Formats: sequence, C-alpha cells, structure tokens
Amino acid sequence: MLPFARVAVIGCGLIGSSLLRAVRTHMPTVRLTATDADPAVRARVVELQLADDVADNAGAAVVDADLVVLCVPVGAIGAVATEIAGELAPGAIVSDVGSVKASVLADLSAALPGVAIIPAHPVAGTERSGPDAGFPSLFHQRWCILTPPEGADEADIARLAAFWSRLGSNVETMDARHHDLVLAVTSHIPHLIAYSIVGTASDLEGVTNSEVIKFSAGGFRDFTRIAASDPVMWRDVFLSNKDAVLDVLQRVTEDLTALQRAIRWGDGDTLHDRFAASRAIRRAVIDAGQDTAAPDFGRDHK
Ligand code: NAP
Repeated sequence: MLPFARVAVIGCGLIGSSLLRAVRTHMPTVRLTATDADPAVRARVVELQLADDVADNAGAAVVDADLVVLCVPVGAIGAVATEIAGELAPGAIVSDVGSVKASVLADLSAALPGVAIIPAHPVAGTERSGPDAGFPSLFHQRWCILTPPEGADEADIARLAAFWSRLGSNVETMDARHHDLVLAVTSHIPHLIAYSIVGTASDLEGVTNSEVIKFSAGGFRDFTRIAASDPVMWRDVFLSNKDAVLDVLQRVTEDLTALQRAIRWGDGDTLHDRFAASRAIRRAVIDAGQDTAAPDFGRDHK
C-alpha cells in the first residue's frame, strides 16, 4: 500500500520539481498538487505536466493532501506554514526538505500547533535552481534524514520513511540539532569556503591578468561549481544554522592556522600527515557510494 494518496508540494524549484517527478515515476497513482510563489514557475509546472493540479497559493494547494512537503528556502518556511495553517486536512502530515532542521522545526511547530510535523532533508542536489533543473532520480541512493520532534507518532515517521524509500533514498532518523552540526561540517562549511575562495580569486583577477579563469582547472573550477549554488537558499542556510556553522568555522580557522604555521616553518611531516589522512577520507567517501571512483570526477578527457 502507498504511504500517501494525495501529496502537495509547495515550491517547485530544483528539489520540489524533482520530488514531483520522482513521485510520478515511483508512485504514479498518487494525486499531486503543486504551487509556487512565482507565477512563471507555476506556469512552467503546468507546461511540464509535473502535477495533477497547480494551485494559485499554498492554502489552496493543501486542502485535501495527506502529505504536504514545503520545498521553499529555509527562511520562507515559517511564512508558508502560517499560510497553510487553517487549510490542512485532519491528520495531514507536514514535512519539508530544508537544509537546516532545528530552525525549521521551531518555525513549523510555532505556526502549526497540534499538526503532525516530521521535518526531512534529502541530502541530494546540484548547483542548479528552478523547475527545469529537477530530475526524477535525484534522490536515488542518497540519504534522506528525518528529524521528528520528541513525541512524534511512530506511525507517521514510518509513513514518511516509506515515502522516501520508495523514491530511492536511504532513510535515517536524527535529532534536528545533531543534523545541523553534521551538515555544517559536510555541506555548509564547504559551501562557505567555496564562496569565499571564488570571491577572493575574483578580487585578484586584476592582479593575475585574468589567468584565474584561464588556468581554472587547477582545482579552482571545482570550487566554482559549489559556489554557483542558489544565493537565496544559501543565505538562508547560514542565517538559520548560525551556531553550528560558527562553531565549526572556529575549528576550521584553527586547523588552517596550523597548516599556515607548518608551511612557514618548513614542517613537511605535518603537511604530509594531514594530506595523507585526507586521501584516506576520499577513499572512504567512494567506498560509501557517495561519489564515483573515476579520476577527476569522471570528466571526459578525450
Ligand atoms: P529553488 O530551485 O530556488 O526553488 C525554490 C522555489 O520556492 C522557487 O521557485 C521559489 O520561488 C519558491 N518559493 C520561495 N518562497 C516561496 C513561498 N513563500 N511560497 C511558495 N514558493 C516559494 O531552491 P531548491 O534548491 O529547490 O531549494 C528548496 C529547498 O530545498 C531549500 O529549503 C533548500 O535548503 C533545500 N535543499 C536544497 C538542496 C540543493 O542542493 N539545492 C539540497 C537539499 C535540500 P521564487 O524564485 O519566486 O522565490
């Protein structure tokens, strides 16, 4: 039996439109209703036939849904929750896909007292945005982390876990604060570093006579992919996960200072040890199925 019969998706960008496509592919009988704040996005969802109905606003989208998934930037979750508060069907589960979980849980709980809230984060994405960027296999073999509040109904958690499993994800349950710390290390800080390095390089363009772009294959281009990610989404991630990001950033700064000292004093052993340990971590990421083993991310060098 399907975990849900009528699913409403609010926000039809990369993640929302991928979710619509994935549900269509893996659970074709589920009735899909979609909406987005942007009328051009709503029109595109109609054109692409991603949903059975496209509503003009979030309230109208959720009226008969048994699962509502908010796929908007983290900073917009509270406002959308307020919009749908009076419109939800009895027993509906409200979830989301936000990259930060403690602030989302607080915003949803404040706006939707008495509603079954099970926040979720599919750890899957690309640097692209909008309804044309989505694809149905985005969640295949990727983790989806559920962060239910204390006291959440086990049956509701199991239904949402079954939903994401059917979309091809591996599901794990975690406390929201722990999620935010783990993701600060694995996702948020790497994005911050990429944004920072690309900004520094662009400031130095004048000094280097445009050679930064010309010789970018020396590692820089891989940072530019990460730093091409959606600015609104990432602004909201850093504002919403401030404490964990600042904690981890402090550690990163100390570690960078240690490397700086090793370079200054010609301490090759420290540099070698640190780089060798990093290589082992890359191997572990590949062994865990999180990336291809092909050299240079499998780029075609023909
Ligand atoms: P996106 O492609 O920019 O799409 C977000 C969509 O939500 C846009 O069409 C946006 O419309 C719409 N929206 C914004 N505020 C809204 C509101 N109040 N009501 C209805 N629609 C609204 O972003 P995305 O990459 O799909 O990210 C969506 C969520 O997924 C974020 O919470 C993000 O943290 C999470 N996430 C992203 C990734 C990733 O790699 N991108 C991975 C995992 C999770 P406008 O353009 O008009 O604002």
